[in-house]
Amino acid sequence: MEERSMLFEEVARQFERLENTSSRLSMIDILSDLLSEANPAEIRHLIYITQGVLAPPFENVQIGIAEKFAENAIAMATGYSKAQVIAAYRKSGDLGLTAEEFSKKTRLRPMARRSMDVNGVFESTLKIARTSGAGSQDAKIKMLVELLASSSPMEARYILRFALGQLRLGAGDATILEALSKAATGSRESKPRLEAAYNICSDMGKVGEALMSKGIPGIEHMKVELFNPIRPALAERLPTAEEILEKMGGRCAVESKYDGFRVQLHIDRKARRVEMFSRNLERTTDMFPDIAKAAMEEIKADEAILEGEALAYSDATGEFRPFQETIQRKRKHGIAQISLELPLHMFAFDLMYADGKDYLGVAYEQRRKELESIVSGKGLIRFSDRIIATRPGQIDKYFEEVVERGLEGIVAKDMGAEYIAGARKFSWIKLKRSYRGEMSDTVDLVIVGYYAGRGQRAEFGFGGLLAAVYNDKRDMFETITRIGTGFSEKNMQMFNELLRKIRKEHRPARVDSIIEPHFWVEPKYVVTVRADEITKSPMHTCGREDGSAEATGYALRFPRLVSDGVREDKNPEDATTTIEITEMFRLQKKVSVKD
Ligand code: ATP
Repeated sequence: MEERSMLFEEVARQFERLENTSSRLSMIDILSDLLSEANPAEIRHLIYITQGVLAPPFENVQIGIAEKFAENAIAMATGYSKAQVIAAYRKSGDLGLTAEEFSKKTRLRPMARRSMDVNGVFESTLKIARTSGAGSQDAKIKMLVELLASSSPMEARYILRFALGQLRLGAGDATILEALSKAATGSRESKPRLEAAYNICSDMGKVGEALMSKGIPGIEHMKVELFNPIRPALAERLPTAEEILEKMGGRCAVESKYDGFRVQLHIDRKARRVEMFSRNLERTTDMFPDIAKAAMEEIKADEAILEGEALAYSDATGEFRPFQETIQRKRKHGIAQISLELPLHMFAFDLMYADGKDYLGVAYEQRRKELESIVSGKGLIRFSDRIIATRPGQIDKYFEEVVERGLEGIVAKDMGAEYIAGARKFSWIKLKRSYRGEMSDTVDLVIVGYYAGRGQRAEFGFGGLLAAVYNDKRDMFETITRIGTGFSEKNMQMFNELLRKIRKEHRPARVDSIIEPHFWVEPKYVVTVRADEITKSPMHTCGREDGSAEATGYALRFPRLVSDGVREDKNPEDATTTIEITEMFRLQKKVSVKD
């Protein structure tokens, strides 16, 4: 029996409801209703559209067509001049709304309106994104005009935002996983099983497709696949060697913690293909041509997935360079030159797959042995330095040595533990130099709102940020601080430009806040912040146990931005979590009591 395909009109209607809700639970209900209506042949595309992407992010398929082409397309599709479209866009500040407005008052005879379905819209948009080469701009505009001319006003709003890469429905991974669970099983309770599958393939469309066609058995035993990045394991914190050893059962490996750029390297030697992925699973292969080349020469396995930290390091002097220098590779130009000036090494610390064997379920010590047997370890790819410790004194001594060498600290590893993809667990525990002071470890915060400038700052229209942590249990962003000082003029201008584009009319559904900033923004950008201390506060929602008026949360004292700009290697869900803050608060009390 031919299954009925889902009309895009229906999708657009539900997207509008999603946009208007300020409750996370109703977001899940709307999404799960929508997902449960899709048939297995379209669920993958529907999920990608909901995420606002054309492929899982690690494939780097750029969706964004330029705004000026979109303006042209709206004008051509509705019989108005480009100037009229631009004037309307200035007023609305949102090209999606402008497309809808012009579609309503179109001067052209509507083309025979054909109902567009989900796969149709997805494939047309993909085609626009993939068209390149000479004359491609005209071809792209023409395709977009066709798409707009045959859509209803409401469809035009969302098609345009999708094509611009500005759909932003506010649903994160956890939200979509819960909605999928509800769509497939009637309850949100299967989310952990879906998450486990997602942690292995990092492809929400793939998880949704397997689930909707085969049910829960379809997502159990998801296999590691080459060139599908695995979501990285993360480390917990503890303040002392004693506590680390106790937690680890009296014996553990202790590795140097390199402050560089996390690299998950996939290699298929026979196909001569190497790809690398960052901590948040973006493809970073182009940043590290030297490591790609070294991988072909220094890795003996035919196929492998390994993980390590890449950083600028001078073999001659044994000197590690700061993270800021390593990250210069993010710029697109002159990589070849930079790799001569600042040669990188990759310090490999884990192995997830080799020659047909999945190592995720294998104990750390065994993974490490295998890693050492498949990599020569003498070239650009080295092994992370480590010791095996059974006494706190050994850990302390190693820690001092490492800090002396200019490294960040240590990561202790449970020798019997599996690789726990996508989660922060005590099988890895970090101890950093900075925990020895007050709260001097930095935190990564999500910008959820901002303030307009006053006085001198008014010309930039920017006066400060409202920032939040991520509560991964609730899948909500909870505010922790306002940052009002320490911005350079350049920084203010940059924030103003970035944030203006992602303003929201009302508090986004996944933001929990008592404070009302001048402008809400979609939680999207992460900044690194240092503060003097974590304090209790009734003004912030971070860590408030209950919703009552007396409940207190945590706040940062004297917060200031550490880096110029935003953390491009972190998604909002990669920000510091509420549990980490609670833990840091506890550690801070301990340290200050002791000192
Ligand atoms: P941080 O900012 O402290 O690096 P993070 O949130 O990026 O924190 P964590 O899970 O807290 O990540 O710490 C682990 C990180 O440390 C890894 O993401 C990796 O990039 C880096 N790292 C450096 N050396 C090692 C090592 N030997 N083993 C594991 N991770 C290491």
